[in-house]
Amino acid sequence: MVDMIHVPGGDVPVVSRADVVVVGGGPAGFSAAIAAARNGASVCLLERYPYLGGLASGGMVLVLDDMCIGKEVTVRGICQEMVDRLAKHRLAIYPPEAERGHDPVAYRKWSRWGLFDFNTKERPHPICYSVAFDPDGWKRISDEMVREAGIELRLHSWFSSTITEGGRAVGVVCQTKSGPQAIMGGVVIDATGDLDVAASAGAPFEHGAYMVTTVFRLGGVDTDEAERFQFEEPAAFAAIDREAKRLIGGSWDYWWLKTPLPGIVWCNCPHMTGMDGLKVEDLTAAEFEGRRRIHAMVEYVRAHLPGFAECYVVDVAPQTGIRQTRLLQGEYIVTKEDVTGRVHFPDSIARGRDYYTPYRALLPRNVEGLLVAGRHYSATSQAQKISREIPPCMAMGEAAGIAAAQALQGGVSLRDIDVGKLQRTLRSQGADPGDIPHASARILEPQA
Ligand SMILES: Cc1cc2nc3c(=O)[nH]c(=O)nc-3n(C[C@H](O)[C@H](O)[C@H](O)COP(=O)(O)OP(=O)(O)OC[C@H]3O[C@@H](n4cnc5c(N)ncnc54)[C@H](O)[C@@H]3O)c2cc1C
Repeated sequence: MVDMIHVPGGDVPVVSRADVVVVGGGPAGFSAAIAAARNGASVCLLERYPYLGGLASGGMVLVLDDMCIGKEVTVRGICQEMVDRLAKHRLAIYPPEAERGHDPVAYRKWSRWGLFDFNTKERPHPICYSVAFDPDGWKRISDEMVREAGIELRLHSWFSSTITEGGRAVGVVCQTKSGPQAIMGGVVIDATGDLDVAASAGAPFEHGAYMVTTVFRLGGVDTDEAERFQFEEPAAFAAIDREAKRLIGGSWDYWWLKTPLPGIVWCNCPHMTGMDGLKVEDLTAAEFEGRRRIHAMVEYVRAHLPGFAECYVVDVAPQTGIRQTRLLQGEYIVTKEDVTGRVHFPDSIARGRDYYTPYRALLPRNVEGLLVAGRHYSATSQAQKISREIPPCMAMGEAAGIAAAQALQGGVSLRDIDVGKLQRTLRSQGADPGDIPHASARILEPQA
């Protein structure tokens, strides 16, 4: 007989039970699932789309940054493992240590990969440890790691509601082609990026917003010629580049970047403001407007920009580039001053470039059995804008996965876990939880 659970709206079949249920297979959710499974938990990972990676694959966000301070690499663990595995297939590229820093030769070699530190005021930006990668490579390595870890992966499963019992999350309902399905768990981790699970469970949140981008890739680009033109004819380059940017209507200074695939460039544009990443109307408008601008600019660069005469649109990212929607208001809310002031927390469980994430920022206030990880973590809108890159989201996920496994094994609630043990486990497994503050950190709270 099929196991059923009663939820508002009717009875739903229970298709899986696991120690840890992770919702969302983006960088944070993938890392949470791998970490929980490697630490002894049975794991069910749910994803609405037909692949893993979230914005790193379907969103075609193709540079890992915010993972070093000077020469020190601050995000390691599962993120570094992903880089190493991708690099073996030549699907991840990063500057060797000797070429990081201020050397103009290195700048010319690496800047069009986007592998520089854009957080400094220094110009030109110093080349640093960041990584350009291939989105289909990300999907391939994710599949490989999920399989090796023995995770039950359920793709095409669109989370719709959290099942709670007495203020505790005990499972989720997903909409699928077979109808609604329930997946029950000892701990639920919300890694949807939009806080879908925690919001449904009644956790407090802020409705944030940031610009939206319809990322795309161009093929047939002669990148050698394009770089030659930029560096050797700077005035002519600047005029054409300015017009291209006017047509796209919102981009960073370098609107195209090289990728590991020869002749294919990543375009992190056009940026659009005033849109809500939770509204169907705005998401539809972003796709329409984004594609209109892309084709207008492509016609122009084919006619005018050396290196781009034969270029064509390979793809527009299947996943809309949403940076910020709901943000948890958890046990601690990270502020912009915490991030820019490099404030260190005694319960730090993840680092970004030079900032720290406390465990409390993954804990919802009035829901038990639930953790969050990723870009919807507990931060103000201004703080999240400067602390939500892929590597720190992976570091948060890794910590959440281990925290979930340790809570279940120790028979304690998520808020009562031994954070020192979590930090030691992260460190012993190759991650950097930020338990040891960097010399530049600000210590405000008493350290354990
Ligand atoms: C245009 C753009 C450019 C960026 N540039 C950079 C950059 O250069 N470098 C960098 O490091 N970071 C960059 N970022 C930030 C970075 O991509 C994100 O912050 C990061 O991917 C967040 O990871 P996440 O796992 O929290 O969320 P996401 O990557 O959004 O993953 C969430 C996952 O949950 C799934 N999901 C969501 N809702 C549901 C549901 N209801 N049911 C089931 N599954 C669901 C999604 O499909 C997705 O797989 C950029 C972001 C954008 C949008």
